[in-house]
Amino acid sequence: MVPAPTRRALLLGAGLLGAGATFLRPTFAHAQATSIADLVDQVRPQTLRQHVFGLSAFPTRWTDHPDFPAVEQWVVDAFGADGAEITRQPYAMPSGKTRHNIVVGDPSDPREMVLVGAHFDSISQTPAQDAPGANDNATGIAALLEAQRILAPLNLDRQIVFVAFSGEEQGLLGSRATAEIAAQEAWPLALMLNLDMLGFRPPQPDAPMVIEFDQGNVVPSNDAQARAFGHEAARLAAAHTTLNTTHTDIWASDYMPFEARGFPCIGFYDGGAESAFYHTSSDSPDHVDYQRLEQVTRLVVATLASAGGLT
Ligand SMILES: [Zn+2]
Repeated sequence: MVPAPTRRALLLGAGLLGAGATFLRPTFAHAQATSIADLVDQVRPQTLRQHVFGLSAFPTRWTDHPDFPAVEQWVVDAFGADGAEITRQPYAMPSGKTRHNIVVGDPSDPREMVLVGAHFDSISQTPAQDAPGANDNATGIAALLEAQRILAPLNLDRQIVFVAFSGEEQGLLGSRATAEIAAQEAWPLALMLNLDMLGFRPPQPDAPMVIEFDQGNVVPSNDAQARAFGHEAARLAAAHTTLNTTHTDIWASDYMPFEARGFPCIGFYDGGAESAFYHTSSDSPDHVDYQRLEQVTRLVVATLASAGGLT
């Protein structure tokens, strides 16, 4: 939250200026003069690591599991650490269970919106087996939470809305529900950024991070905007991170329902579907590359800040 100037400071200011003088505007800790470079330097590797270990500690985050509400509560608590306003957005699973996406931000805000999302559910060989889901996708949630901590206090030209989806591994169920609401309520969505798998340790240390942007799919009219945001992300990666980048189309993650509703979509992805740990009980926190996760989180913060209007 933005700290308010103290009453004492205001009174002191008034005394110094005297009657009839023009009051100076009080300055705030998070002045809008802040730069992308200042913001990316606020990414804390230790916090990312704590989030990955914290979320991976659940035996499973299979969305249909009876204990899944405890996972939802973990996400609510993590988002709410700084007193953020949180909405639990319900949707129905095919099993009949009610599950929730966790939303931070106000979709009725008249400003244009940048939505950043990551799924917090996980999967392994069978629902009965452990599914720590460290890289897929505790890493995406860790980056999402860190971006929220750094960016939510700022009042940018575009509002940033943060969403943690569930039901991704059962067919993008949570993101379908949010995309439907976004279309029905005509959210002024300038960009949807999806984070799904960010900390795979590649066989080659300089293997690129994949910047995915929409190149067709259901709606052709949003492609040019997605491409422009994708190219801007590549430029920001070169300026603010040590990552090499490449690009592909978007595929098989939570941006797809938003693309189908016409919204411009990009994503960040680490190539981890090639890993032997992918969708198994071995997707554990000790296999995550935390340096890579730190660098791509810097890219997440830079991309959101740029889309929000900062330079
Ligand atoms: Zn995933």
